[in-house]
Amino acid sequence: MTEHRQVTIIGSGPAGLTAAVYTARANLAPLVIEGEPSSTSDQPGGQLMLTTEVENFPGFPEGVMGPDLMTRMRAQAERFGAELRTLKVTKVQLDVHPFQIWIGDPNAEPTVTSDSVIVATGAQSLMLGVPNEARLLGYGVSTCATCDGFFFRDRDIAVVGGGDSAMEEALFLTKFARTVTIIHRRDTLRASRIMAERAEANDKIRFLWNSTVADVVGEQAVEKLIIENLQTGERSDLAVTGLFVAIGHRPNTDLFKGQLDMEDSGYLRTVPGTSRTNIEGVFACGDVQDSTYRQAITAAGSGCMAAIDAERWLEAFHHAHAAAT
Ligand code: NAP
Repeated sequence: MTEHRQVTIIGSGPAGLTAAVYTARANLAPLVIEGEPSSTSDQPGGQLMLTTEVENFPGFPEGVMGPDLMTRMRAQAERFGAELRTLKVTKVQLDVHPFQIWIGDPNAEPTVTSDSVIVATGAQSLMLGVPNEARLLGYGVSTCATCDGFFFRDRDIAVVGGGDSAMEEALFLTKFARTVTIIHRRDTLRASRIMAERAEANDKIRFLWNSTVADVVGEQAVEKLIIENLQTGERSDLAVTGLFVAIGHRPNTDLFKGQLDMEDSGYLRTVPGTSRTNIEGVFACGDVQDSTYRQAITAAGSGCMAAIDAERWLEAFHHAHAAAT
């Protein structure tokens, strides 16, 4: 049977759960459809579930493990009456009101109808897909220099990728590391001229061209990389304790294609300074609409914005509805 909600939040990273805390405290009894554990890059709790220690989330002077932080956010949302379901949305229909949401069979009746929807489905870092990369994620393999650079003081580390992200990560990492090796699969960078020049001019950065990471080696943490030269096929060891994968991100927006406005890159478009999408009553927050900052704290902040935007929108909607009847 279809159930009705005032607010449904899709996604349960810092953005979705912060939106849940705020809407729950506003007595809106939000439903959070968290997602389902299916792969390392797509799961309830979002990217923090793949992180070890988080030292830059305010309020945790000793640091906090990523999964612990998400457990706390869940508990906080539930304390105020948010209902969390560890299930995946299979379809949404946003051109009707109330909005329709399916969990499970997309040909059945909608599972939920909702007056407002907050989209917080996040983004995934693209990964290389080499054998030990996923096992060592958080143990030397990282997708975020801002988050993890600090742990690599005076170490030799590597960044893979040839775009602006890779240059930016590498330049940031030179603040901590002894050396940073950029591994790129071609012999020219995709990065903008200015970023490329900055990286090339940095004494701590060196480049391995026409090369790819064939595997990451280490029992408890990264000890070295196996590098393959793509022109000769030759393999060699690179002794580093960190590998930053910076080959791009993919926002989780497949569900909304053709319904919500998005950039060519797939990020949802929101009205600047708000969480409003092109559909009234549908709001977006966190990494699904942010290709710039991508931090847990900025996601949480935008989740708060979405909750407040939704609350105000619902108030106006109910007011107009009451006046009309
Ligand atoms: P990107 O521009 O798509 O670059 C991805 C890089 O990773 C490319 O060099 C690509 O190689 C490489 N790559 C992709 N898949 C790979 C694989 N499987 N194995 C090895 N290498 C692989 O992504 P991005 O750097 O994240 O940038 C995304 C957008 O954000 C861009 O428009 C960028 O300009 C912008 N951005 C701007 C700034 C800034 O201005 N400060 C900072 C970050 C990002 P190929 O070159 O061979 O394809």
